[in-house]
Amino acid sequence: DATKVGFIGLGAMGARQANNLQHEGYSLVVYDRSIMQLEEFSKRDNVEVACSPAALAETEGVRVIITMLPACRQVREVYCDREKGILSAQGGTRASLLIDCSTISPNTSRELAATVSEARLHPSAQPYPGCSNGSPAFVDAPVSGGITGASAATLSFMCGGEKDAVAAATPFLQAMGKRILHCGGAGAGHAAKVCNNMALAVQMASIAEASAVGKRLGLDPKVLAEVFNSSSSRCWSSEAYHPVPGVMPNVPSSKGHRDGFAIQHMLKDLHLATDAAAHAHARVPLTERALDVYAKVAEVDETLDFTAIYSLYYDEEL
Ligand code: NAD
Repeated sequence: DATKVGFIGLGAMGARQANNLQHEGYSLVVYDRSIMQLEEFSKRDNVEVACSPAALAETEGVRVIITMLPACRQVREVYCDREKGILSAQGGTRASLLIDCSTISPNTSRELAATVSEARLHPSAQPYPGCSNGSPAFVDAPVSGGITGASAATLSFMCGGEKDAVAAATPFLQAMGKRILHCGGAGAGHAAKVCNNMALAVQMASIAEASAVGKRLGLDPKVLAEVFNSSSSRCWSSEAYHPVPGVMPNVPSSKGHRDGFAIQHMLKDLHLATDAAAHAHARVPLTERALDVYAKVAEVDETLDFTAIYSLYYDEEL
C-alpha cells in the first residue's frame, strides 16, 4: 500500500506540493477550509477528503501530516483547536510525523513543537524510527522557491527539529523539493526563513527599482534584465522571477501579478522579521523601507503577487 500522507492547506503552494507527493506515488488525505480548493482534489483517484484537521488525523493509515497554511493564527487553529484540531483527534493522532511548511514566527513554531511533544499518538500509529516517545514527531520546514519551485518540485526546505525527525521527514520533503537544510532545533527553520525573506524583499525591491529607473533612462527592460543576469546584480529576482511584465514568460509579473507569492504574505514575513530583529536588538533599516513599499501596494490589492510593487509603485509617475 502507498504511504498515506495528510495535506492541509491546498493554496498556491500547497496544491502544487500535494500534486508532487501524488506523482511520487503517495496517496493523499486532504483538507482545506475552502471547498473550492478541495473540489479538484476530490475528483482524483487515491485522494480522500477529510472534513476537518481532526478527522484527517483520525484517518486510518495516515502516517504523516503536512501543513501549508497562511500564518501563525491558522497554524495554531489547525493544530490546536479543541474540537477540530489535529491534536484533538479521537484517541490521539494516527500520524506519527507532523511537518509544518507554512511561514510562521520562530517563537510560535517552538511553542507548537512543545505542545506536540505533549500530544498523544493513537495506539495503532506506527512511530517512525527514532521518533517514538508516545507523541508525534514535529518538524518545522518552511520553504523557499515560490510557486515555480513548488510546481517543479525544486523547493528548498529549511528544517528545525530533532535530527531523527528531520531524517524521517526527508523522503517526503524530497518529493516536493531539492534541498533539505537542517538549520537546528525547533524553530530554527523559521529563523532561517525569516532571514531569507527579509533579504528577498529588499532584493526584489532593488531589481524593480533599478528596472524602473532603467526604463526611464530609455533602456529596454529585457535588455537590462540580460545585463543584470550576466553581471554582479544577478539574483533570483532578476533571473527566475523578474518583476517587470513581459521580461520573462510564465512568471506572475507576466500574468497580471497573479497566482504567486501574495503581498499580504510578504508583509507578514517582513513583520515577523522586524519583530525578530527587535527581540535580537538588530538594525534593519532596509527591511523597514521595503516594508513601507509593499504596504503601499497592499493597500491597492494585497492578494497580488509581491512583484506588483513594480507596476503599482515603481512604474507610476511621481
Ligand atoms: P495561500 O493563501 O494561497 O494558501 C493557503 C491555503 O490555506 C488556502 O487554500 C486556504 O484556504 C487554506 N487555509 C487557510 N486557513 C485555513 C484553516 N484554518 N484550515 C484549513 N485551511 C486553511 O498561501 P500560499 O501562497 O500557498 O502560502 C502558504 C504559506 O507558504 C504561507 O505561510 C506563505 O508565507 C508561505 N510561502 C509562500 C510562497 C509563495 O510563493 N506563495 C513561497 C514560500 C512560502
